[in-house]
Amino acid sequence: MPDVTTRTAPSLRLSEVFRSIQGEGELAGTDSLFVRTVGCNLRCVWCDTPYTSHAPERGERVTVEELGERLLAEDCEHIVLTGGEPLLTPGVVPLTHALREAGRHVTIETAGTVFRPVAADLISLSPKLSNSTPAGRRAARHEATRDAPAVVARLLAEFDSQLKFVVEGPDDLPEIERWLLDHNADRSRVFLMPQARTSAEYARLAPAIRRLAEEGGFRFGPRLHVARWGDRRGV
Ligand code: SF4
Repeated sequence: MPDVTTRTAPSLRLSEVFRSIQGEGELAGTDSLFVRTVGCNLRCVWCDTPYTSHAPERGERVTVEELGERLLAEDCEHIVLTGGEPLLTPGVVPLTHALREAGRHVTIETAGTVFRPVAADLISLSPKLSNSTPAGRRAARHEATRDAPAVVARLLAEFDSQLKFVVEGPDDLPEIERWLLDHNADRSRVFLMPQARTSAEYARLAPAIRRLAEEGGFRFGPRLHVARWGDRRGV
């Protein structure tokens, strides 16, 4: 398992910091401060932040201390670390500990392929199904990386977690059922979310995914930011 618990770094590469509503999961609608790191070990075909994964931008190099001060200066209880894959970045460990010590609620949005001993109130785990695999030369590496059972087991055991699956249609359901069985995961914490990058795609697919979720005993996972802003950055 890629456990990288012993290394920490004083800085991290930042794609953006912005304040918006949480669009997904149990905290949907909550005023939140988002911290997006650069870099991802996956290459999902429908990635909605390619500037952190397929074509990663350089980003802003900030020290953990600077970033912590910047975040705590905002009067915002909920802080969300997202990416890319935020757990690739060693600096998230001291950052999350400092934020929680200061009384902030910390959510980490991760695909669950890397473990770090962060401090988090909620791990928002979005396992990547086979519908995420790109064609061509990136397929093999993505396939080999997207499911890391030992990492998932540790995240589920050590943190309060929710599960968000990006779904295109009924063909995805058997794979989700298998995943839940394999990982002995709590079905009541599972959200099915429409695979959409624009408001129009979301409006088209959301009713069908809502029906699938209801029929399968899952929760429908809204994507409020996609419904409202599509793939616009900084919102
Ligand atoms: S894990 Fe997230 S950031 Fe990385 S490629 Fe997939 S959708 Fe994009």
